Amino acid sequence: MSDPSKLGRLGGKSIALYMFTTFVAVIVAMTSALIFKPGEGFNPPTETSEFVATESPGFVQVIIDMVPSNPISAMAEGQMIPIIVFAILFGISLTYAGEAGKRMAASFNDLNEVIMKIVTIVMNFAPYGVFCLLAKLSATVDSGAIFAIFNYFINVLFILILHAVIVYPLLLKITTGLNPANLLFKMREVAMFAFSSASSSATLPLTMATARQKLGVSRSVASFTLPLGATINMDGTAIMQGIATVFIAQVYNVDLSTVDLLMVVMTATLASVGTAGVPGVGLILLALVLQQVNLPVEGIALIIGIDRLLDMTRTVVNVTGDSTIATIVAKTEGELDEDMYNDRTLAHKKS
Ligand code: ASP
Repeated sequence: MSDPSKLGRLGGKSIALYMFTTFVAVIVAMTSALIFKPGEGFNPPTETSEFVATESPGFVQVIIDMVPSNPISAMAEGQMIPIIVFAILFGISLTYAGEAGKRMAASFNDLNEVIMKIVTIVMNFAPYGVFCLLAKLSATVDSGAIFAIFNYFINVLFILILHAVIVYPLLLKITTGLNPANLLFKMREVAMFAFSSASSSATLPLTMATARQKLGVSRSVASFTLPLGATINMDGTAIMQGIATVFIAQVYNVDLSTVDLLMVVMTATLASVGTAGVPGVGLILLALVLQQVNLPVEGIALIIGIDRLLDMTRTVVNVTGDSTIATIVAKTEGELDEDMYNDRTLAHKKS
């Protein structure tokens, strides 16, 4: 984009909207889990049931702890928020550091590629690991557990659907006055691709083509907002992380204080930003959310077996969110072709 002020405005608007929807998603998700209590009646597997929660720090301490006194030890201990604060500072400094900054950023990109390969290798082993975990789990938990896991599944699914068919359409209607049904209708192909691939990144080319050729989003807005969204906007992931955290706390009989709940909102929002748009990563980052409020990471084993289906569904929510925000940004920037947006016949055209 040649005009820096436009870039700043688009960036600010997109990021603010992405953050806002994620925030709403986690709050609704956690509230539903606190009311619905999917984890109640579940006796945790024997060897981890001895878990004792440590006292969580007060709110002021949480704010103070956000700034790492030692970033290396924060990384070694997996303290998510201080790491992110440090990463943001580091990233800002990289952009101001000229050539050296560019070289450094390029090597971080390379490092990211390599780490993603490690994730892929690990994920290829996941089915065998999941099989073993499930075998062990089903041998050690009672039948109430199956019911609790089913409740968790339904809880996540319900909020995911609610977010996609109520929250996004409402936001679109309120901010732009456009008919949200057109967007949902034209997203069918994208939704199917996202569902079967469970990857926002893999769906990105189709999301871009649909936004430009069916929703009427201009090229400059689509090519800025959508890749950004596929990287940082994961409302579906945040919903799963919010509900999973409350579920695991209920299973292990840990009462989450108000500060803990706020921490979960904050960490799940940030963890979803940090989640790569590939299958299953949301569950890996759930470990960081659990760690932040001192919950046992082993709790992930309880839900990993049913995560694939939820992963597929949350990816649909993630890409729907990206397209909704891109449409809102385009409309408010005067870069939306409304005739195209309102033309339903285009929904049948191949992208
Ligand atoms: N599979 C999700 C996506 O690509 C990320 C996740 O929640 O694991 O959007």
